[in-house]
Amino acid sequence: MHIDLTGRVAVVTGGANGIGRATARRLARSGARVAIWDRVTAAGKAAAVALEAEQLEVHFIEADVTQRASVDAAVAATVARFGGIDILINNAGITRDALLVKIKDGAITGGMTDDEFDDVVAVNLKGVYTCTQAVVPELLKRGGGRIINASSVVAHHGNFGQTNYVATKAGVIGMTQVWARELGKRNITVNAIAPGFIATEMTAKMPAAALDAMRSHTPAGRVGSPDDVANAYCFLASDFAAFINGAVLAVDGGLVIGT
Ligand code: NAD
Repeated sequence: MHIDLTGRVAVVTGGANGIGRATARRLARSGARVAIWDRVTAAGKAAAVALEAEQLEVHFIEADVTQRASVDAAVAATVARFGGIDILINNAGITRDALLVKIKDGAITGGMTDDEFDDVVAVNLKGVYTCTQAVVPELLKRGGGRIINASSVVAHHGNFGQTNYVATKAGVIGMTQVWARELGKRNITVNAIAPGFIATEMTAKMPAAALDAMRSHTPAGRVGSPDDVANAYCFLASDFAAFINGAVLAVDGGLVIGT
């Protein structure tokens, strides 16, 4: 399958690192012009420079998805640079893991804080809502487009220490299904990707034993690479996926947590 995104403009939130960076490269290699939106300027610029060195058209725009004004400015900067937007990859995400309650010797010794809960909701859930609401008018001007949201395998199965994260990733699936209905008639498809465990900075923070356990529960026998997920984003952004709307595509090597 040869995916050709020539003439399309894609936004990848959180595109400075990990899966987002691999996705920016994959989309650009398929012919898209790509705006990386991220709040980490040095890494974002470095990612764009590295991709430009491959003769790819990638531009970094500083943006914090939790701030409406920052997102609106990023939309304006993207349109000024590339003339419009066709594809939005809502990839930016964070973790702030903690048990709901920590119990030692029968006594509660701590637990997730309100800040840990709110920070993750602000980026992973409200950030997806804000970016989508800000970008949809641009997609409508182009006569349609693609929105693809980052969920996670944990949205279906839960995960230890991730009350906040799992709530956001399940919420992303809900928003995806609502927007597939609301925007489908406008020639905009909205889908989600549910990665399993992918080797990035996010999972580098996990204890080695937890990663080993995930690997052993994955029929593929390995954790995923950012390119595994980038390829799925690229497919859903392409004409080959024109009739896929409201779907959640697992990219997890067959992992089922807890089995
Ligand atoms: P990562 O930590 O490597 O990269 C995340 C990027 O998001 C970073 O560049 C970071 O600066 C950016 N970001 C964070 N907050 C932001 C904000 N407020 N505004 C703009 N950018 C912001 O993470 P990753 O592993 O590449 O994960 C990417 C996405 O995939 C996330 O949504 C994550 O939840 C999801 N995911 C990852 C895995 C995995 O195993 N790595 C599994 C399932 C889902």
